[in-house]
Amino acid sequence: MITVLQILFVLFLIVLIIRLVFQSRRPEALVLPENTEEILADYVIFYAGLDEDGRAIFLDKMKRFLSAVKITGANAEVEDLDRILIGAAAVMPVFYIPDWEYINLREILLYPGNFNTDYEQQGNERLVSGMVGTGSLENIMILSKWELRQGFINRKNNRNMALHEFVHLIDKMDGSLDGVPEILLQRKFVPQWKQLLEQEMENVRRGQSDIDLYAATSPVECFAVVSEYFFEQPEIFSEQHPDLHALLQQIFIRK
Ligand SMILES: [Zn+2]
Repeated sequence: MITVLQILFVLFLIVLIIRLVFQSRRPEALVLPENTEEILADYVIFYAGLDEDGRAIFLDKMKRFLSAVKITGANAEVEDLDRILIGAAAVMPVFYIPDWEYINLREILLYPGNFNTDYEQQGNERLVSGMVGTGSLENIMILSKWELRQGFINRKNNRNMALHEFVHLIDKMDGSLDGVPEILLQRKFVPQWKQLLEQEMENVRRGQSDIDLYAATSPVECFAVVSEYFFEQPEIFSEQHPDLHALLQQIFIRK
């Protein structure tokens, strides 16, 4: 005979199991390291230029990003500084886009230094410092810890490798990695944008531009490289490249 007590006990167990399952699924509320704001103000020009409200929104977006994406060290220790800089690089290009999520990114692997195109950390031909994975590494980004830090510490140049890789992800979000971020750029600006990229690649090839030579590789790389310059040295970029600056504003700032 099943007693009322037994039924109640079974019900109690069911409720307990359901609660345990849901609790373990709930993501832990992420707490940013204590000195996050200080580090951002020191190293991230974009953050330093925001007002108080803007800074609070930036921190919130960083928190959401770092809760959603796993950062794993591969022979490298992931330190607080690395987490903060990765979070900053992720938020900067999409700061003005409401509810943005990098749905094409699950995990970031942090390597100590450069690697080769087979993702190996040893041997010659280790020329790659960051990349967005494809095939078996779909939804995974690899960054060199050394280059990640250089991108923010070195103020003398306009390169920022981590930001570069996030721009590739944004470019890729519409289904094609082609230098045209259709998800952010209004259709009416697309022909002008393509033309500007081609023109600038030609200028770079001829040595008539201060934009890094890597931009001449393809429209995809050109978009990522000019975006680095746009965020790293905004004033010089707007003086030197007013047309590109105006369209990058359309893409990232929406004004
Ligand atoms: Zn690239």
